[in-house]
This record gives sequence, C-alpha cells and structure tokens, in this order.
Amino acid sequence: MPNLPANLIAENVPLWPLTSMRVGGAARWLANPNTVSDLSTIFAWIQEQRLPHAVLGGGSNVLFGEGGFPGVVICTRQLKGIRLNGTSVVVAAGERLSELAKELNRSGLSGLEWACGIPGTVGGAVVMNAGTRDGDMAAVLENIQILTPSGVRRWPVEDLKLGYRTSDLRTGCLEGIVLEVALKLHRDEPAHCIQREELILKSRRKTQPLGASSGCIFKNPETGPPAGMLLDRAGCKGLRVGTATVSTLHANFIVNEGSQNAADVLALIDCMRTRVLEQHGITLRQEVKVI
Ligand SMILES: Cc1cc2nc3c(=O)[nH]c(=O)nc-3n(C[C@H](O)[C@H](O)[C@H](O)COP(=O)(O)OP(=O)(O)OC[C@H]3O[C@@H](n4cnc5c(N)ncnc54)[C@H](O)[C@@H]3O)c2cc1C
Repeated sequence: MPNLPANLIAENVPLWPLTSMRVGGAARWLANPNTVSDLSTIFAWIQEQRLPHAVLGGGSNVLFGEGGFPGVVICTRQLKGIRLNGTSVVVAAGERLSELAKELNRSGLSGLEWACGIPGTVGGAVVMNAGTRDGDMAAVLENIQILTPSGVRRWPVEDLKLGYRTSDLRTGCLEGIVLEVALKLHRDEPAHCIQREELILKSRRKTQPLGASSGCIFKNPETGPPAGMLLDRAGCKGLRVGTATVSTLHANFIVNEGSQNAADVLALIDCMRTRVLEQHGITLRQEVKVI
C-alpha cells in the first residue's frame, strides 16, 4: 500500500464505469481527490515514487485497454466550485461542462451555449479544446491554473497552443493537471441564451446516437468532407465487432451495446480507419485518446 491516507487512493479499481464508452481494465491505483491540497499530496507521492500516471476527467474522450493502467489514474471530477465575478467566471476542473453552460445561460452569461450537451468536465474540455462549429473553449478561455511537477502555476491561454481538439496539455508538450479555469463571457438576455441552448440540444438529439460512446472517434480532416461523411461513404455504418457497433445515425460514433471489452472497440476503430484509407486514400487522425 502507498504511504497515503486510504481515503485518497484505492487499489485495483475497474475503469470501465468511469468512461462513457464503458470499456477497459483496472487501474493499479485510482485517486479521487476532493481538494487541490489532496491532489498535491497525491501528485508529490507519484513524483517521488516515479510512478506512471494518467489524468481522467469525465472519461468522455478516453479509452483504456484491456490491461487497464499500470500506475495511478487521477480522477479530477470531485474538484468542484464556481466563482462568478461580473462577466468572468472561475470554474474548478471537475465541474461538468454542459451543466455549467446551462447554469450560465440562466444567469444571462453568454459564450458557452455551444457546450450544452457535451459530456465531460471543464478540465477535459480545456485539454481537448472542446467545441462545435458554434464555438470552442479557445474563444472563451482566459487562463488556467495547473499543477505541474514544479508546483501550481497560472497559464495564459496564449501559451496553451489550443487548436482543433488539441492543446499543449493534450500533446504532452506541457505536463500538468488542470485545477481551475477562468472564462470570459458576455451579457445577454437569459431567454436568448436558453433559446440557443434548446436549438443546440435539439440538433444534438437528431444527429447523435444515445448509448455508451466516446463521441467522435476521428477528427475531421483539415480540408474536404468531414470524417463522418468519409466513414459513411466507406460503408462503415452498422459495422460491428462484438458489441461495439458503428452508429447508423452518425458514422463517426461507435456505440458499445454491452461488454466491457476494449479490444472490440479498438478493433472496430482500426477497421474504420482502414476502410477510409482504402476507399478515399485518407488516413483519419484519432480524436479519442487510447491510454
Ligand atoms: C456523446 C458525446 C458527444 C460529444 N460531443 C462532443 C462535441 O460536440 N465536441 C467536442 O469537442 N467533444 C465532444 N465529445 C468528446 C468529449 O466530451 C470532450 O472531448 C470533453 O471535453 C472531454 O472531457 P472529459 O472531462 O470527459 O475528458 P476525458 O475524456 O476524461 O480526458 C480527455 C483528455 O483530457 C485529459 N484531462 C482530463 N481532465 C484533465 C485535467 N483536469 N487536467 C489535465 N488533463 C486532463 C485526459 O488525460 C485526456 O487526455 C463528445 C463525447 C460524447 C460521449
């Protein structure tokens, strides 16, 4: 057992319930800190022991393999708190993005309506630069507070290299755990914000499948048709490996219809990529992170 209070860390914890695709093996250790102070204690121990670690937010864009994770998975979803100051808001990394957006809409703070219906945490949304064609994190983010191996730092948005579903935190150029996020919004009538929210949620319901998934598996290519269209044209809709199936509503979504078997999902991802390469000569880049 690590030399840490038992309430900070648990051993051999299955990861499938912590991801939206609901597959994957167990973490050797799982830490679920409630406070930044607890997180700092855990992080210091990880550095001292030189253990591999992975950060998990809402688990809506990551997949763990059958082998799980051999080190410490740090789950940030218990880090909670929202502070409003005029049109600025500072949010702890574990707050849920979609719920935050809905709350802001009701307060007449506009800028995050596009995030309604996107699962996951605010911290994960920064790392992924989550977004839709209506907006993304880069457009509302001012700065973040991160825990790095050399302590807690504030990082301006300009230095995060946010791009299409990426950031320096995603690529590993910057090592750290997002603790809190400062957003800059603007005032609008709550009724207008809520109207936009309803339109966005309606469109999501029409175009995206329900069920266990990780959202879009692949990024859109920089030019030409989006990944979903390429996958559809390559005949991927309805393809199946085990209980992992390509959605018939949206060809860039895999829906897991039951098992916790990550190998099926990974095999299906390979099959989709190969089909698009063979039929369109395009190598799709993965959006979902396999850990
Ligand atoms: C049904 C569905 C629809 C979706 N629609 C969209 C969409 O429209 N647009 C979009 O952009 N995405 C979409 N996604 C993908 C996903 O919801 C987003 O990428 C989301 O922002 C990921 O947040 P998360 O907290 O779940 O991150 P996770 O999946 O837990 O992690 C994602 C990455 O961020 C890292 N990470 C997470 N939290 C932290 C932290 N605090 N500090 C450091 N690193 C961290 C992880 O290590 C990992 O590399 C969708 C997913 C689903 C299931």
